[in-house]
Amino acid sequence: MLTKDEPKGWVDFVDFIQDKCSQAEFQNWIAPIKVAKATESEVCLEVPNIFVQEYILDNYRRELCSFLPMNEDGEPAVSFVFSERRQEPVQKVKEEENLDGSLFAHELEESTFQLNLNHSYTFSHFIEGPSNQFVKSAALGVAMRPGKSYNPLFIHGGVGLGKTHLLHSIGHYVKEKHKKVRVQCITTEAFINDLVTSLKNKSVDQMKRFYRNLDVLLVDDIQFLQCRLNFEEEFCNMFEALINQNKQIVITSDKPPSSLKLSERLIARMEWGLVANIGIPDLETRVAILQYKAELRGLKIPSKVAFFIAEHIFNNVRQLEGAVNRLGAYASMLQKEITQDMVETTLGELLSYVPQKKVTVDSIMKSVSSMFNVRVQDLRGNKRNKEIAFPRQVAMYLAKELINESLMKLASSFGGKTHSTLLHSWNKIKKQLEEDETLRRQIHMTKQNLEA
Ligand code: ADP
Ligand code: MG
Repeated sequence: MLTKDEPKGWVDFVDFIQDKCSQAEFQNWIAPIKVAKATESEVCLEVPNIFVQEYILDNYRRELCSFLPMNEDGEPAVSFVFSERRQEPVQKVKEEENLDGSLFAHELEESTFQLNLNHSYTFSHFIEGPSNQFVKSAALGVAMRPGKSYNPLFIHGGVGLGKTHLLHSIGHYVKEKHKKVRVQCITTEAFINDLVTSLKNKSVDQMKRFYRNLDVLLVDDIQFLQCRLNFEEEFCNMFEALINQNKQIVITSDKPPSSLKLSERLIARMEWGLVANIGIPDLETRVAILQYKAELRGLKIPSKVAFFIAEHIFNNVRQLEGAVNRLGAYASMLQKEITQDMVETTLGELLSYVPQKKVTVDSIMKSVSSMFNVRVQDLRGNKRNKEIAFPRQVAMYLAKELINESLMKLASSFGGKTHSTLLHSWNKIKKQLEEDETLRRQIHMTKQNLEA
């Protein structure tokens, strides 16, 4: 850490900071910094990554100015270089463990922390379409070059859209292609349970050692860390320890980082790499997924019937799979071909309603007004308070989705709004739908009411 060559200003700065911050903070952030070069007028610091650079500038700018040279603008005259990837600390921990007779890291892994991956969640079983292409290539990039492309990779999207599938795909790929790379995949709940158990068994240090020795950590459903303060802090420390060593982290969540009720510190870390959204697949992709899953079961679904199913099950791939399973069971029991009639009887409530009746702006407003408890005349009016503006945007969204008319004509039915207002509303709601389960349900029910 500190050597004789380090300028006195830096040594004093480190002493000063050590007294000011917690030991964990010091070890994670300050201890890894070295002085690469120092002159009278400038100091160049070697840091493990940009997190550390930002951390020190954000938190200790004033102190840096007091202890180190300052430039003409009154800013610290400090530049940064990034250190090469460091593997030694991991080796060292292992050696120490051997000496004192405690468990080897790999024994620990085998005995306590098994890698549980669903065998069918691989890249080759993942069907691509416009809604998930970007996320899939990011996931593949991370799997091919762990720690060297996007770090962390944060995948968010609604239920049943393939987040866990992609996370496990990374796990399989890394395990197969990089034999020496240590990878673990956990759900956030399992992480919390492990932590509780190891607190009880007084084996927290072993658990920490195991996680900090990983090269790739895959964490599913981070939303379960919300409102779990102590666990959040432990997780955040582990996260920082890994990232500081350029270890790869991938996280999934049902919301983007900024919508999670977690500390600003953790949110900022999670946002730093690549945040990628996995969307609802379009009709063609849904049909392709359906046909693929059917083929795996040796089931033949005529193309017309596949389109019929995919039109009615539109926002959850898991439900599409459920439909295939149910149809498979039914078809083999009855020894019958799959037809649309059979689909309608077998899948019944799984098929969401696609309105057949002619939908008008008036009927949409009526349905939205009862769903959101606002007056139709307010939907047509200009009031901008959220309680009214939001349902109005939903109504505009539905109008564009369900009515085949020009934007101008649709917009004018909303008390003479412009087509750009309508388009803006449509975009906003469409985006929000990707991550807001409640809104998805409200819109689904509003559509059903349109028929009632
Ligand atoms: P999430 O974690 O987003 O809730 P999952 O990853 O558990 O969703 O996916 C639900 C099911 O749908 C899984 O069985 C998965 O294999 C399947 N699935 C989702 N997206 C795809 C896809 N693009 N191609 C093939 N299967 C998919
Ligand atoms: Mg999942």
